[in-house]
Amino acid sequence: MHNKRNEEPLVEVRNLCKYFRQGRSVLKAVDDVSFTIYRGETLGLVGESGCGKTTCGRTILKLYSATSGQVLYKGQDITNSMSARELLAFKRSAQIIFQDPYSSLDPRMTIGEIIAEGMDVHFRYTPAEKQQKVRELLAKVGLTEDYANRFAHELSGGQRQRIGIARALAVEPEFIVCDEPISALDVSIQAQIVNLLIQLQAERGLTYLFISHDLSMVKHISDRVGVMYLGSLVEVAPSKAIFAHPLHPYTQALLSAIPVADPDFEATRVRVKLEGEVPSPINPPSGCKFRTRCPHAIKVCAEQQPPLVEAEPEHFVACHCWQHLYGDGRK
Ligand code: SF4
Repeated sequence: MHNKRNEEPLVEVRNLCKYFRQGRSVLKAVDDVSFTIYRGETLGLVGESGCGKTTCGRTILKLYSATSGQVLYKGQDITNSMSARELLAFKRSAQIIFQDPYSSLDPRMTIGEIIAEGMDVHFRYTPAEKQQKVRELLAKVGLTEDYANRFAHELSGGQRQRIGIARALAVEPEFIVCDEPISALDVSIQAQIVNLLIQLQAERGLTYLFISHDLSMVKHISDRVGVMYLGSLVEVAPSKAIFAHPLHPYTQALLSAIPVADPDFEATRVRVKLEGEVPSPINPPSGCKFRTRCPHAIKVCAEQQPPLVEAEPEHFVACHCWQHLYGDGRK
């Protein structure tokens, strides 16, 4: 896949936890997660619904306060209290594109007002400069300037998501959390939006955390991929490596469900079927959280949570058995 990142960390997530109290119980949505996002790259974050990937993205952006752990942004710990000025600078630099373009745009505002809203907070443009910026942003996301006077309900889903992207770009961010940005769109439109994100990244040097349950799209856009299960990160690797030889049984099961365009391969490949439902994050299994659905579980899996270890350069996996499962014969 792409290999455009340099080695400068932009976001460092260290032992991040985000718990929600539910009555007398505690829901561990994000449970001791650590990873780095390098400047200029796209890190895909995947997993089934409820695995904590969206909560993780929102906690990184301070939309939720972390329960414990750290998030460093450009080396600064943003989980600690920040001055109003530092917080404003962070909010400008780190933006989000929401999953649902239908509900994330204010129906009472014109598209021009929606795009310009963030500019009023962060820049001191004259009205004429603002209008010019709105026109430039509309053109950048593939829409004509007359869209500035329309309302969200007049637009298609794909057009609304283009507005969501223009709104994020309006404050000239460096980092964008793309939170399931295509899952509410028709399949025919999804690739257009992903290609637009790729193009904008190339032009502006943006860094993305691309959250999705759609592995085929993650493969298309990501330099590296992290896989989450029940609040934990179970595998992180360069995109090419994780799709060519996933090491975690959960990643293998997710990948084996993706249709492949090669009929010969499709006819012969072995599908790994996941048994059972995802357990509740309020009361997760002991040891490895995946053990109740894992075809390879052994005694130690119920006793100890496997640490995330570097199985090969840049390829991390949290499984007691990865060496036993793959040995030296793995290609
Ligand atoms: Fe399966 Fe055990 Fe590995 Fe967990 S640690 S994925 S249960 S083999």
